[in-house]
Amino acid sequence: MKIIVLKFGGTSVGTIKRIKKVANIIARYKKKYYVIVLSSAMSGVTNNLINLSKKISKNFSASEYDVLVSSGEQMSCALISAELINKGFNSRSWISWQVPILTEGKYKFSRINKINKNQIISYLRKGGIPIITGFQGINNKNRITTIGRGGTDASAIMFAKFFKAQKCIIYTDVDGVYSTDPNKLKSAKKIKVISYEEMLEMASLGAKVMQPHSIQDARLNRVDIEVRSSFTDNKGTLITKRKNIINNKIITGISSTTNDAKVTLLGVRDKPGIAASIFKPLSENSINVDMVVQNISANGRETDLTFTVKSEDLSKTKKIVLQNKKINFRDLVFDKSVSKVSIIGVGMVTTPGVTYRMFQALAKQKINIQVISTSEIKISVLIERKNVQRAILSLHKEFKLNK
Ligand code: ADP
Ligand code: ASP
Ligand code: MG
Repeated sequence: MKIIVLKFGGTSVGTIKRIKKVANIIARYKKKYYVIVLSSAMSGVTNNLINLSKKISKNFSASEYDVLVSSGEQMSCALISAELINKGFNSRSWISWQVPILTEGKYKFSRINKINKNQIISYLRKGGIPIITGFQGINNKNRITTIGRGGTDASAIMFAKFFKAQKCIIYTDVDGVYSTDPNKLKSAKKIKVISYEEMLEMASLGAKVMQPHSIQDARLNRVDIEVRSSFTDNKGTLITKRKNIINNKIITGISSTTNDAKVTLLGVRDKPGIAASIFKPLSENSINVDMVVQNISANGRETDLTFTVKSEDLSKTKKIVLQNKKINFRDLVFDKSVSKVSIIGVGMVTTPGVTYRMFQALAKQKINIQVISTSEIKISVLIERKNVQRAILSLHKEFKLNK
């Protein structure tokens, strides 16, 4: 059975005109494949639903939040399906609980672990086109769950895995993965093929084009992904295993974030176990600490400790640190106007001097680096948010990404 999974993002189904275009794309694939479609909500709808929840309460029930914010997908799936019916196809929508798509984990951040195939397979065999709600599933209490913002990418990849699809195509509003966000830098260049590892870093470090969990799932299950535009017929980007790629670039891409906040504890006692005492209660409260730097203490007794968290976790972090009886410090300072800029590429493993080139390029722009973190295939720096655009432009040039 030659199955293909097609995912359409919010902008691709954002208007009735676009939904009609999407139906034409689906019809084209139907000639050659059994087609399974996953759709996001129309663009803006999920945000509006989240805003409604905020009007009820800041502490809106997590289980009801998932019922609420998953509802946008029901709407878009019905519209796509009805348009296909209008065109003479056999199609129907499937809400996640009807499949069902089973998830585990917490509300808002669940992960898909199983998909019941029976109904969908027999419907495909009868020539039907199932249009399935992305971004959601049900848990073992039979309650609706969601799988994190942008989650329809992960839904599509899990469908491709469970149905052993020949292809998984992510239709979005850009015609592929670029060296950096093409909506922010005109000279960004389309990447023809990229490895899961690099895409995972790019996505985790701010490239919204793919949701990070979806790339983890794709890598674990060896699902090849094609990212392309629902607005043009241009060839897209293939995301695949490293072995399939011949690459002569040192750096593949540059990502940036806009939702980081920096926290500094001044005058912390410099003794073993202090960092653990600071970070333990944060992790117990599901606050993800990202970059960390500790200054060398001048007098051997006191030091300054700086770390970053997501901006939305800042007030919670502040509260937890101030209530922490296990630590002493002189002052607590915050900075919300910071951003993380990262360069990513498997090429840096075998190329010396990449760090130096990055720092020098930023120094030439008089951009101050506040915190640094590295892994085998990425270097991230924390800088003032107002300098992000200039930083990206200079790094893009330095590593010849527009060539
Ligand atoms: P969808 O609604 O289809 O899921 P998203 O808005 O989630 O689409 O992702 C597409 C957006 O990702 C693009 O409009 C683009 O601005 C942004 N983006 C960020 N980094 C990159 C990159 N490196 N390559 C391509 N797009 C990127
Ligand atoms: N509609 C959801 C969101 O906006 C899921 C998705 O678009 O993938 O996050
Ligand atoms: Mg998305």
